[in-house]
Amino acid sequence: MKVAVLSGGVGGARFVSGLVAAAGASDVAVVGNVGDDVDILGLHVSPDLDSILYALAGLNDEDRGWGRSDETWNALETVVALDGESWFRLGDRDLGLHLVRTQALRGGTPLSEATAAAAAALGVEARLLPATDDRLRTWLETPAGDFPFQEWFVARGHRDEVDGLRFDGAEEARPAPGVLDVLDEADVLLLAPSNPYVSIAPILAVRAIRAALADRRVPCVAVSPLIEGRAVKGPADRMLARLAGGTSPRHVAGCYRGLIDAIVVDEADAHDLDGLGEVRPIVTQTLMVDAGARRRLAEAALGAVPA
Ligand code: GDP
Ligand code: CA
Repeated sequence: MKVAVLSGGVGGARFVSGLVAAAGASDVAVVGNVGDDVDILGLHVSPDLDSILYALAGLNDEDRGWGRSDETWNALETVVALDGESWFRLGDRDLGLHLVRTQALRGGTPLSEATAAAAAALGVEARLLPATDDRLRTWLETPAGDFPFQEWFVARGHRDEVDGLRFDGAEEARPAPGVLDVLDEADVLLLAPSNPYVSIAPILAVRAIRAALADRRVPCVAVSPLIEGRAVKGPADRMLARLAGGTSPRHVAGCYRGLIDAIVVDEADAHDLDGLGEVRPIVTQTLMVDAGARRRLAEAALGAVPA
């Protein structure tokens, strides 16, 4: 069974690693968010693609949740000593990827090719594609002003309430080569338990990707990033409360109106399944505490597909 999954960074990467265990790497294609991409110290950083890459290569730091394990920070210490740009922390091991990718991009290699090359070099068998090779950047509209994603998320610790979002460049952005093919060839489409507003929406902002999901001939299953109405980490719950009016399964599903056939929700949210309409709930434990839990969650999502 061929699977295509839309994914953000950390929550998405956890799920994608379970998916690879459940479905087999060669049948999994991941379409990743690039709305968080940022230039730091002259380097192009793609945090969400990198979280997936590191998780699938077994190089990710489980405790910190982002970046690489066994990381050291010597370069960053020098940056601090030189009063350079240090608000976005890049570790020594992580830097190597940003250097290689930035050089490739400057030489005219598209992001999709640079990503595929890195995945191959790190022994990642699943297909990893950026949603687009074009420039697409998430902006947050808040009472304190408008901020590019990383400035809001990292520099300001996502403390500002979000009144609206925009995805600069999305109008003109074309899906990266291969994206429409993997969506078309998939037997099931999945939306990872990522933040609907800042991880999945920027992918869906690419018009042809949204259209591919809207016109699907196979089931599409979303996995909720909320447990007991709360985000496991990050601002998804606050954003849903403010922008969608609540944090129940119907509010999560409402972010994907017309795009999904089923939604996987946690047992802790099973008491409030009203308002889902045509979207079928699948109730299970959704906290991905370890590799077994990640795989079981992926199996629950895949189980929504009639054999
Ligand atoms: P980011 O791009 O690094 O912010 O990561 P994502 O958007 O892919 O993932 C963030 C979301 O993952 C948050 O809303 C979390 O609630 C969700 N998340 C993290 N771990 C888990 C988990 O174990 N289970 C579920 N259901 N959601 C999770
Ligand atoms: Ca992200």
